[in-house]
Amino acid sequence: MKTIPVFLVFLFFISCSEFASDKDGNALKGKVRDLPKNMSYSYDCLKDDSSKVSDMWGKADNLINKVVTYDIEVTDEEQTKYGDTFLIESKKDKKFIIDDQDPVNEKLQTILKELLQERAKPTGIEYQIFLLKDTATINAYTVGGKIFITTAMLNKCKNDDQLYAIIGHEIGHNEKGHIKASLKQLKASREFFGEWGEALMSIKKLLTGSFNQKNEMEADYYGLDLSWKLGYDVCAIKSFWDDLAKGEKKEEWFDFFRTHPYSDTRSKCLTAHIEKNFEVECK
Ligand SMILES: [Zn+2]
Repeated sequence: MKTIPVFLVFLFFISCSEFASDKDGNALKGKVRDLPKNMSYSYDCLKDDSSKVSDMWGKADNLINKVVTYDIEVTDEEQTKYGDTFLIESKKDKKFIIDDQDPVNEKLQTILKELLQERAKPTGIEYQIFLLKDTATINAYTVGGKIFITTAMLNKCKNDDQLYAIIGHEIGHNEKGHIKASLKQLKASREFFGEWGEALMSIKKLLTGSFNQKNEMEADYYGLDLSWKLGYDVCAIKSFWDDLAKGEKKEEWFDFFRTHPYSDTRSKCLTAHIEKNFEVECK
């Protein structure tokens, strides 16, 4: 079987509690407020979470990518097509089970539609959201406009506020060009290194810690901003990460390889973002 290389952008260690509180029903609520003017986005909060070496590496890696992929273009249509191919290939795996019978599917479609309507400068990427029958892996991820959420993740969700922010995060990875950047690298690696390119890319992915941590925060901010526009409680996602931080062990030596910020760092970044831009103080 020919396998396609996968650039999954995972929300590791997701933990919402119980998926409940359908406070708005299934009707489209739509935008209830604009983003404040002069929004600012800071990534200084990540500095505690990554060593100076990985920070430098992140910047160097970013620069190298820009040079290597300078004249390589990946269109929105190609990204959507990549998502389609990923879905077809994934369905060949017996463990990949899409649960389209669960009534919650309707709600997921509504959430996706509401969030997509609030994008300021929408790309042409086509989106779909799927519930994956998996009660063991608590996760959400996205590939070329396809968003996947496991039942374990839904079962852990405390409220809609958290769910909107999480799905918004996955949209953010697509809209902010994170998937596109990976696909550009893939194109470049195939071009320059042939078959070896993909193996090299996998190794390289391990070494881009701080670069990816920034992407994760960018996607967090993106999801949070969309939730704000729809009138959801932006502090809910902060408490989501607070809950998660309780059981998280920190390994200093591991920082260099981390693709995701620690949960308490995410909470800290989001708290600062919320206070500065929305003038809301989270408890
Ligand atoms: Zn992510």
